[in-house]
Amino acid sequence: MAIERTLSIIKPDAVAKNVIGQIYARFEAAGLKVVASKMAHLSQREAEAFYAVHKERPFFKDLVGFMISGPVMIQALEGENAILKNRELMGATDPKKADPGTIRADFADSIDANAVHGSDAADTACVEVGFFFPGMNVFSR
Ligand code: UDP
Repeated sequence: MAIERTLSIIKPDAVAKNVIGQIYARFEAAGLKVVASKMAHLSQREAEAFYAVHKERPFFKDLVGFMISGPVMIQALEGENAILKNRELMGATDPKKADPGTIRADFADSIDANAVHGSDAADTACVEVGFFFPGMNVFSR
């Protein structure tokens, strides 16, 4: 199986709930390594650029507003099948539909304030890791 890197963001709602450590523990228990991390309070420009793929969607403005409402914790995760593994740990976008025991089922309040972001495919992982950690080699080891 491929060793991959993926981009994860603990969103402002989960940072405000003080559950960064609990979420990191889930990454580690699943065999994902935090290979880069930084806390940041995103600017509107950064959030708009990061979510540019969604700019025509009706929720874009609210999503950007939410992502800049407080600090976020941003990390690159590495491990076997890291992209899918992280998506499984996260659970469905809407926490009401997320499987029990997933991060969103346990920590998210709504489809807007849903605790975590995770890259959804190899190409987006590459772009997203590079967005926040320029120069990092995504497909290594
Ligand atoms: N989102 C939202 N309303 C929606 C759909 C999505 O606010 O109806 C937000 C939500 O924060 C989600 C993000 O937009 O995490 C990106 O949406 P996507 O469909 O890519 O979901 P994800 O990959 O985060 O599960």
